[in-house]
Amino acid sequence: GDFPIETDTIVIGAGPGGYVAAIRAAQLGQKVTIVEKGNLGGVCLNVGCIPSKALISASHRYQGAKSSEDIGITAENVTLDFGKVQEWKAGVVNKLTSGVEGLLKGNKVDIVKGEAYFVDENSIRVMDENSAQTYTFKHAIIATGSRPTEIPGFQYSKRVLDSTGAINLDELPEKLVVIGGGYIGIELGTTYANFGTEVTIIEYEKDILGGFEKQMTALVKRNLKKKNVNVITKAEAKSVEETESGVKVTYSSKGEEHTIEADYVLVTVGRKPNTDELGLEQVGVKMNDKGVIEVDKQRRTSVPNIFAIGDIVEGPMLAHKASYEGKIAAEAISGQSSEVDYLGIPAVVFSEPELASVGYSEQDAKDEGIEVIAARFPYAANGRALALNETDGYVKLITRKEDGLIIGGQIAGANASDIIAEIGLAIESGMTAEDVAMTIHAHPTLGEMTMEAAEIALGTPIHVM
Ligand code: FAD
Repeated sequence: GDFPIETDTIVIGAGPGGYVAAIRAAQLGQKVTIVEKGNLGGVCLNVGCIPSKALISASHRYQGAKSSEDIGITAENVTLDFGKVQEWKAGVVNKLTSGVEGLLKGNKVDIVKGEAYFVDENSIRVMDENSAQTYTFKHAIIATGSRPTEIPGFQYSKRVLDSTGAINLDELPEKLVVIGGGYIGIELGTTYANFGTEVTIIEYEKDILGGFEKQMTALVKRNLKKKNVNVITKAEAKSVEETESGVKVTYSSKGEEHTIEADYVLVTVGRKPNTDELGLEQVGVKMNDKGVIEVDKQRRTSVPNIFAIGDIVEGPMLAHKASYEGKIAAEAISGQSSEVDYLGIPAVVFSEPELASVGYSEQDAKDEGIEVIAARFPYAANGRALALNETDGYVKLITRKEDGLIIGGQIAGANASDIIAEIGLAIESGMTAEDVAMTIHAHPTLGEMTMEAAEIALGTPIHVM
């Protein structure tokens, strides 16, 4: 028999959106059940953010061990055990996913394994291998994430990889073709290049990493070139032929067709929301023609007791965006007036050098007719950057001309991903250039560059002329 199990709030999907929503809802006194068909932690922890960063960091260490002659260090016989790297990476993932399980249990969230779909606006059915169970709820939060899109002519297989396949390879490719120069393609392409793979990146648009400023992507391109990564822009991937031991990828560029051979091809051309198998039409949850669920500022769907967060709703497909929305939705369900506000959301690429942006860019300000001061401080003038031998890049602070209010920042350079947090905080707290300039920053640190940029904005820089 199938007696429905009652709960206050049901969360579907345990990625960075869902598990955070579940914990926050439980903290606010709700009885919460979370349903996950795969592994706790979702894409981000299992096959996204975390394992990709583990591989990036391993590849940096390998590169650093092999080539630090310019600072007087040489090493011989530096070897790479790629299997061991993969084992270590799996350990990192494991630690985090079991951590999530502990947090959910600690917050008394019921974890249910299985695939959920909606029966009506107050119940879902969860299917496991050989069982089915109905759950009724007052509120639901959908957090089912996204999956890679395919391009015509490229069906995923053993040698035609999506990002998951590329992250979980058990051998190091000699040659790899990457289709798509977005952040996932650039991060994984750089990683394999560092490990010694010959990498070719094919990008349809006229530049890689669309959305970031030219000055920033130029630094990444220069670095890729140094690593002998071949970046082909304005090129269209046409087809792939699988051979016994690899692939032949055909692409067109400037009206001509070319073929490259490689061991594998990685296709990273975007992701689509997992909203097609949830029975959403049945309950009247509105979506656009791309399957993106329509939501209000509290992430409430067209059905008032059902919320949606993360990759399945508008906005950038990023883990921190999913988690932020998870908190907002959980608070909204608990009767709080929380609403999303995206001015302070950072975007980061873990490329070489790292790129990070938050709030307004100079161009955004121009588009909106806001007069700004864009104050730029170079890594080459920062003591810590020199001591780290990381002199490529800059910190740029965007302040409103009329009152010095900090409204944005862009960083290209080592640890940009961490430094950007201070600018995000400044934006969120309504700080001015003077506030940051008067904040004492430890010396010598990369963080000082934000203070220096603020001083430039005020017209009184100390360390540049
Ligand atoms: P997901 O993490 O996709 O989780 C959704 C979960 O729902 C999954 O576990 C899925 O199994 C489950 N599910 C789906 N349907 C059902 C169902 N019917 N029933 C039960 N469960 C279901 N973002 C960053 O911010 N920083 C990064 O550095 C970064 N790197 C990335 C690298 C790669 C290679 C990739 C692919 C992505 C990366 N991302 C990164 C993006 C990030 O992973 C996603 O934005 C994030 O995981 C979205 O979270 P989510 O909670 O919306 O969904």
